[in-house]
Amino acid sequence: MPTRPWPGLRGPWLRALAAIALLLLPRLTVAAEPSAMPIVIAHRGASGYLPEHTLPAKALAHGQGADALEQDVVMTRDGVPVVLHDTTLDAVSDVAVKFPGRARADGKHHCTDFTLAELQTLSLTERLDPATGRQTYADRFPRGQSRFGIVTLEEELDFLAGINRSTGRTVGIYPEIKSPAWHRSEGHDIAKAVVEILHRHGYATKADPCHIQCFEADEVKRIRGDLGWQGKLVQLIGGKDQDRLVTPEGLAEIATVADGIGPPIERVLDPAGKPTDLVERAHAAGLVVHPYTLRRDRLPSWAGSFDDLQGALFAAGVDGAFSDFPDLTVAWLRRRATGRPD
Ligand code: CA
Repeated sequence: MPTRPWPGLRGPWLRALAAIALLLLPRLTVAAEPSAMPIVIAHRGASGYLPEHTLPAKALAHGQGADALEQDVVMTRDGVPVVLHDTTLDAVSDVAVKFPGRARADGKHHCTDFTLAELQTLSLTERLDPATGRQTYADRFPRGQSRFGIVTLEEELDFLAGINRSTGRTVGIYPEIKSPAWHRSEGHDIAKAVVEILHRHGYATKADPCHIQCFEADEVKRIRGDLGWQGKLVQLIGGKDQDRLVTPEGLAEIATVADGIGPPIERVLDPAGKPTDLVERAHAAGLVVHPYTLRRDRLPSWAGSFDDLQGALFAAGVDGAFSDFPDLTVAWLRRRATGRPD
């Protein structure tokens, strides 16, 4: 005859204990469980196919099933937030041809030296190395072909609201506040300007489809504190100089203000493609993990294919990922959800 684990406990007492255990169980396990369906964040739009941060790249990503579109945000001279990755214009536009003599001593054309009206005369192209003129990703959209322009953050939000309405599918936004300290030295409070725009466009709470992201930890605290942002907030994590952020103390501190972290893939998967303990530790701190960046044309040496990389990253338990190829990432996740992973 099997013995009871606690012979003294019977009937109502046992049922009461079981009820308490059931109540506690979800609380104890929720932090460590990976999301059932990770989100796909279109990195600068469907930038694997069209020049980054152009409206066509955003429209394509929407059509490819991305859950959110990323906007990197920088400021113009006249204080307008525009959607561009760099605080300089040389790698993605014809600024050197259109505005000769406007580079600084460092040889670069800085966004904050140009008014919005001036920036609107530029053509955006596929990213290139200004020193060599070679495309960063050789097989992507041919440089200089067709015409693409710079858009303001508000223009992109209006554009997205339009597609969300016409397709009946709500895709979220994922704005990154670029280089707040540098912007401050140029006389601009970029975080304040972005938060005001988001509020005006109806993004305000954690129920709204918007994550603000930023690398500078002090600014992340300020966004949550002084600037009163109550929506979702992600602390981006870069290279060695930000190692402190991924210590247990660092993650606990992030969790007091932010909802998640955005680490490079190299912090989630080691040089052999095996998971590190970062996802587990971030989940234990109550943080989601959205690493950057999945690129079919820039694989780590251990990955034989893009699906090798995607498989390893999602097997590590991440809650989403930035992808230059949102269609391929959406497709991989759908195959996994239907029980047909590669
Ligand atoms: Ca970014």
